[in-house]
Amino acid sequence: MLERVPLLDKELADYATIIGDEAVERIRDAARVVDGARVLHVSATPYGGGVAELLATHVPLLRSVGVDADWQVIHGSDEFFGVTKNVHNALQGAGEPFDDRSRHVYLEKVLENTLLLEGDYDFVVIHDPQPAAMRTFRDQAPSPNAGAKWIWRCHIDLTDARPDVWDFFLPHVAQYDASVWTMPGFVPASMPAGGVHIAPPCIDPLSVKNLELPDPFVTEICRQYGIDTDRPMLVQVSRFDPWKDPLGVLEAYRIVREEIPDLQLVLAGSMATDDPEGFHVWETVDAARAGERDVHLLSNIQQVGNVQINAFQRAADVVVQKSLREGFGLTVAEALWKGRPVLGGNVGGIVLQIRDGVDGHLVSSVEETAARALELLRAPDHADALGANGREHVRSNFLSTRELEDWLTLFGSLG
Ligand code: UDP
Repeated sequence: MLERVPLLDKELADYATIIGDEAVERIRDAARVVDGARVLHVSATPYGGGVAELLATHVPLLRSVGVDADWQVIHGSDEFFGVTKNVHNALQGAGEPFDDRSRHVYLEKVLENTLLLEGDYDFVVIHDPQPAAMRTFRDQAPSPNAGAKWIWRCHIDLTDARPDVWDFFLPHVAQYDASVWTMPGFVPASMPAGGVHIAPPCIDPLSVKNLELPDPFVTEICRQYGIDTDRPMLVQVSRFDPWKDPLGVLEAYRIVREEIPDLQLVLAGSMATDDPEGFHVWETVDAARAGERDVHLLSNIQQVGNVQINAFQRAADVVVQKSLREGFGLTVAEALWKGRPVLGGNVGGIVLQIRDGVDGHLVSSVEETAARALELLRAPDHADALGANGREHVRSNFLSTRELEDWLTLFGSLG
């Protein structure tokens, strides 16, 4: 059997105070159509990164409206996750060629995982490329789920995907009954148009990461990590990944610090099990930081979990997400929801979340990031106003309840 991820309970009714009774009723109506449906989500890792974050809320919410939902994760190996990380990079336009050895490692491991796929489902939702070929091997599974509808959820921006890698994946993902994407622009022209759905990711306002946190807690948590909430600070929360450009953030910070000498920078990032590159990037950033005391490099290794991330995002004067490529960037919605303005790379799903000049700014270079950060640090009332706009933008578009409704509607239309 694949590893089943244990989950907390969630109740849709608890969200009524945030989204209103009418929205809750609409979701219940959508759920009635698929009452009792059996849904399996399959992903590569139970924690670390956006997909794990999403499913930890989405699956319990499905259960709370009468869907029999489950989440299982595939088994990997260092070599497999090395290959799939390269695939991830290649699908974002970089990475190495996908050689025969990599193809073999990938297919062998996905087959191995498919042989462990037990249970009968009405809908099987496969996330991202790591387990994507499971649909191809499904007849070899102990429960082939022949009657199930298979849906591929691609979280990646495929705009500049390396053709050799995408050509490998296309025949596997084209077999699915439907695919779900963050934005229309991410869908390659070669993807069969029938069955393409758009449903951007969302954040959970009731998760420990996003719940209100009283100021004394924020101050104390920051203090435990040597961060002074009385001094200005920039924060970026991200996996240690070159696409998140932590070195660019450090460079921008150094430019701003020339004007604001007591400025602090927090770079907090978890290490995901499916991301072998993380430790290497951490070391590179640590070397570049060159022991500067006001640059705080933190991760789950120092016990930075959801509450700490919540506190850092709230304590930030300005949140940065200077990605060079980004599927969506949950960290942007998380910070906006906390009423903080965000400077986000002008890429991928970040552009859905930040309306330039309204909720923060879209930035395309180190210099622009530094200039916008300085502007907001010098005008805290303006910064707060952008953050307040961002919170309402997230309330209307990027809360888990919207995603729940999208998926219920999709299941209803396929069932
Ligand atoms: N995250 C975290 N701890 C960290 C770094 C990241 O909990 O130290 C979370 C972050 O808050 C967000 C998710 O991991 O919820 C990252 O999702 P995002 O879409 O921003 O990026 P991805 O990692 O999927 O590329």
